[in-house]
Amino acid sequence: MARRIVMKFGGTSMASNDARAEAVARVSEHHYQGDSVVVVVSAMGRKGQPYATDTLLALAAIREETGLCGCDLAPRERDAIAACGEDLSAAVLASELIARDLPAISLRSHQAGIITDGVFGNARIAKVETSLIERRLDEGRIVVVTGFQGVSPDGDITTLGRGGSDTSAVALGVALKADLVEIYTDVDGIYSADPKMVPEAIPIPVLPYREAAEMAHGGARVLHPRAAELAERYSLNLRICNTFSRAPGTLLTTAERLTEEGLDARPDRLARAVTSFSPVAQVSVCDERLAEHFDHTVALLEALAEAHLSLDMINVHPDRLIFTLAADRGAEARAIVENAGYSLLSRDLCAKVSLIGGGIHGVPGVVARIARLLACAGVPILQSVDSSMHISVLVACEQEACAVRALHAGFLNST
Ligand code: ADP
Ligand code: MG
Repeated sequence: MARRIVMKFGGTSMASNDARAEAVARVSEHHYQGDSVVVVVSAMGRKGQPYATDTLLALAAIREETGLCGCDLAPRERDAIAACGEDLSAAVLASELIARDLPAISLRSHQAGIITDGVFGNARIAKVETSLIERRLDEGRIVVVTGFQGVSPDGDITTLGRGGSDTSAVALGVALKADLVEIYTDVDGIYSADPKMVPEAIPIPVLPYREAAEMAHGGARVLHPRAAELAERYSLNLRICNTFSRAPGTLLTTAERLTEEGLDARPDRLARAVTSFSPVAQVSVCDERLAEHFDHTVALLEALAEAHLSLDMINVHPDRLIFTLAADRGAEARAIVENAGYSLLSRDLCAKVSLIGGGIHGVPGVVARIARLLACAGVPILQSVDSSMHISVLVACEQEACAVRALHAGFLNST
């Protein structure tokens, strides 16, 4: 029976004529198998390449004499510029499919009915009105849709944040009741660590949605966190695979199916992966006034929240408050703390390194093993937090790779 497939191609898969020829080959395979195909594309290439999102933004990272930089762009115009990369790649890929006699048509996000909540730079998809896509699919067309963008209720172009094309693909998959969503990238699926940082990392054949989402939040940029969460909510079949190889990739599924169907290659394994992200800033507020009354801590947390600062590793003590946040918001957080009259210590260049796995919960001694492995590698731990599925440590940025490799070697290399 004909299936409905959403195929998403990331920046490296769109970057060159040769790469797009691979993408075209994948799309035509599905088409000739009789599948209905929707393709979601990212902008072509990565930083430095002519039509990559960062390059487009740099066009308006306005001349030095005006004193403006990219971050000063008006949010609405910033999104309007950033979205051009996908507009271009959708039309280019559709043209290349048509040149091979494949009945493609490109649609920009407003034509494809992708409606967002209107938050510039970090919009969420509110709904997908699929009528035009459905009509084109019924005509037998391959519909090529721009990833990473959607239209606000006011008709403005809004972008979904870095990596957001993955979420575009999953949202379309859900709305179109797709049988399968395939995310094509430049590595053989989701690995036990970033293969570019850890050469011994191995692809994970089947992964529960929840653990994939944890990995994404922990910095494994191979999949956007919201894409994993949305796929989980709708139990969508989602596969991450390589445009440039025939490796089977990673299939996401529920933890229950993994156990019930015996799909887990290593059910006894404690941890599934090591992830990291950087740079993050650490702010430590150590001030006697905090100890005087707990209301002071509460008021400080509220002031940080009012400034829309998203705090991450938060440790509240009677006389201390320690937290991390994205490094580019560090100065703002420091200013709020200082304006409230507290003294602080801060470090700007830190990395959060996380050991991830559904099997970690309740197992004694995992933190001790992490501490021992990092001590042997000469990496001091600056802070730690944990949840039922991960244990994270903060380390200096320059020790990020060393820490990731040490934890991978200790928890995942051993047979
Ligand atoms: P795309 O442009 O295809 O969306 P991304 O750069 O967003 O590609 O994601 C793919 C990259 O994610 C890989 O090249 C890899 O270096 C990186 N990555 C980080 N962590 C992981 C991981 N655990 N597994 C696989 N890739 C990872
Ligand atoms: Mg990506």
